[in-house]
This record gives sequence, C-alpha cells and structure tokens, in this order.
Amino acid sequence: MDLRLYNTLTRRVDPFVSRETGKVGMYTCGPTVYAGAHIGNFRTFLISDLVRRYLEYSGNKVFWVMNLTDIDDKTIKGANAEGISLREYTDRYIKLFFDDLDLLRITRADLYPRATEHIPEMVSMVEELKGKGHAYAADDSIYYKIETFSDYGKLARLNADELRIGERVASDEYEKEDVRDFALWKSWGEDDGPVYWETSLGKGRPGWHLECSAMSLKYLGESFDLHLGGVDLIFPHHQNEIAQTEGLTGKPLARYWVHSEHLFVNGQKMSKSLGNFYTVGDLIKLGWKPREIRYALLAGHYRTRTNFQADSIESVRAGLGRFDACAVNLQHSTGGGGKIELEQKIAERDKEFRAAMDDDLNYPEALAAVFNLVRDVNTLCQARAIGQEEYQIAREAFRKFDSVLGFLDVDGAEETPDPEAAEIDALVEARNAARKSKNWTEADRVRDLLAEKGIVIEDRAGKTVWRRK
Ligand SMILES: [Zn+2]
Repeated sequence: MDLRLYNTLTRRVDPFVSRETGKVGMYTCGPTVYAGAHIGNFRTFLISDLVRRYLEYSGNKVFWVMNLTDIDDKTIKGANAEGISLREYTDRYIKLFFDDLDLLRITRADLYPRATEHIPEMVSMVEELKGKGHAYAADDSIYYKIETFSDYGKLARLNADELRIGERVASDEYEKEDVRDFALWKSWGEDDGPVYWETSLGKGRPGWHLECSAMSLKYLGESFDLHLGGVDLIFPHHQNEIAQTEGLTGKPLARYWVHSEHLFVNGQKMSKSLGNFYTVGDLIKLGWKPREIRYALLAGHYRTRTNFQADSIESVRAGLGRFDACAVNLQHSTGGGGKIELEQKIAERDKEFRAAMDDDLNYPEALAAVFNLVRDVNTLCQARAIGQEEYQIAREAFRKFDSVLGFLDVDGAEETPDPEAAEIDALVEARNAARKSKNWTEADRVRDLLAEKGIVIEDRAGKTVWRRK
C-alpha cells in the first residue's frame, strides 16, 4: 500500500505504515448522545468511514473503535430535565445515531463502547496516573498535572504561554494548581442529581477526555495506528488524550492523527440561530434521499472546509444521475466485443483512483476517475461493444469502486427499471403485432414513435431488444 496521510502530529504528509502489515487499528471520537447529531458530525464520521473503506480496498483488515459519550454535562442535564435515567435518555439518542449511520451507509465500527460501561477502567487509569505523579486531588475533583508531561502541546503546537492565555477565564472556577490542568474526575454537584459513581476517587463522574483514553487503551492497546476526529478536537481533547495515555504508558498513543475540517452550511458555520443547523432527518424532510446526502457530505477534500448547500439537491441529483444513466445504459446495451478495451479502461481508472486516494485521500480526484470510467462505458455502449460478458465486468468494476464510495447503487440500479420501460415494451409489442399482420404503415409509425423517444430496436433470433441511444 502506498497511502500517504497528513499527520497532525508531524504537520506533514507521511507514508502510512501500520504497526502490523495488513492490519490497521483505528479510533474515532464518537458522538455525545444528547441530541440528534448534525450533518457536520456526520461528515467527520463519513471521513472515518472513507478511510476505513479505502484501507480495506487496499487489502487491509481494519479494526475500528468509536466511543459513545453517554456521560457529560449535556447528557446529565437532558436526562435530569426529563426526570428519566441517564441510560434511558442516552439510549434514545444512540438509537437515532445508529439509524442515521445506516441511512448514510456508514459502515459499522467493530465496537461502540459506552463511557458509562467503562467506569472501572477509567478509575484505575486515574489511580495509576496519581501513582505516577501526573494527577492530584483538589476541590474533591482530580486533575491532570500538565507540568509533569513535557510533551504537552505537541499535537496542538501550542506553547505554555499560549495555553495559559486561552484558559485564564475558566480557571477562576476551580481550585486547580495550574490553569492548564484539566479534570480527570469531577466531584458530584447538585446539578448532577442521581448521576454519580461512588469510587475510590470519590463520588462523581469521569471527565470527557478520560473516556477516550481508557477505551482506546482497552480495545486498541497502548499504541495503535490511526486516531481520527474533527479539527475542533485537536485542542484540548486530543492533546489531553495524549497526556493521559502517554503519561501512563510512555508510548505514542497513536502514530497518525488525522483531522477533518469543519463543514460549512449555506456558506456559514452551522448554528441554530442562523437557521442552517441540519440533522439527517431535517434534510430528508426537505426531499433529500439518504444516498444524496452521503454524496454531498463526502464532497471536497477532507482537509478543506467544505460548504454544504441545503438547496443544492438538483445538482447533487444530476451528479448521481450521470452514474445512474450509465447503469441503465449497461443494462440495455446490446452487442459485444469490447472486453479487452473495457478491461484496459478499468485498469487505467483504478490506477487513477488509487493514486488519488493514496495522495492524502484526494477524494475529488478519485471520484473523477470513477466518472471517467462512466464516460468510457457510455462510449462502449454507444459503440455496441457491451454484451453480457462486458456487462458483468463493468458492473463488478463499479461495485468495487462503490465499496469505497458507498453511493453508486450498482445493484440497486440493476433493479431500477428504465422509468419508461413498461411504455416502451408495449410499443415494441404493438410494432411486432403490426408487422405480424403485415400492417407496415402502423409498424413504421410505432418505430418512429420509439425513435422519437431515443429508443433503438433490434430484431435478433426472433426476439426484439431495445436500448437507449
Ligand atoms: Zn476522543
């Protein structure tokens, strides 16, 4: 594999080499399950899905873990406001999250560990950090002592001064030794109501950053290949994950850190007050098909700010329509003899596709390679070079590309009849009946009607087949 990825840790496009050849362990920070995730969240998950799919396309076996943050200020507030248990409250949003994942055809990670089911792992991690001098108690909470971790700021490329400026305001609330220190364990407060754990660390709950360190350590080990997330998580979340895990193990948490840029919606940062805040469900109500949402959200390079236009449905449909029309052409194409040329084109386009994806996931160019094949196949259909054998070969090639893209609907298209198929079949039958009764005028009239619709008919071995020009 020749994949190269931009590594936030090194600020370079580095060759991607997994620890074990042919196997990749990856972790994505999952959703906080207190509301329906918005399409910006899903773009981040779609990028992880794209990475996973492409790693598999390149012959790797991937083990992918995505956590579910089912305990934090927002989930507690939501559950307590409704007077239901945290579990009942978060179950609702976890179900919604999985429904949306399925709609967007995001492949399932191998594991979705819930924070609340890993409290003992988190507690023992904090105990160990205390033992190593990285953590201290203050104000009934436990904090990470940043000055004990010399590499702090490495991922975010922030120096000690910058860190102090950024956190000065928030520091007033806490009895921390240093403004930069962050909570590993938060002591129970009245607002938490019935949500707390009685542990050796006291009565309280884990800090958000701790969840990811504890769960990635448990399921992916002390050091794994790839950690993904949105750019907004670089600091402080990912920086703190590094301090926690590496403070404990002395080994690099992940060798490659891949961050995707923000999604802009209608030209601006998504916010409820701007009215450009959309969930997958919102877009479906506006007439978007899930497949179209996937196509639109994947557009652009993962490291550039992508703009999603909620009213761009027609152009998205036109883009996908180019592929769908090709699939219909393939189904109705008659002829043959194009096998060698087709196989050459497929090999060429696959090479273009891989070269683009290997180049730090240049998705726009990879997609262009697939649409180049669409054009090639259309040309071969027009030249009547596509018979049954070629049809199978072309279909298989598109299916393979779709194992990465996830929106081509190669098999779906196979079942998608030509929208006018019934009408055309009836006309073809009428023409044949007219010919049988030697009513040549009528036969010619129907043939002209078909020609007007762009339909070509051929009589072969007593059977009439039709196709679009
Ligand atoms: Zn995380």
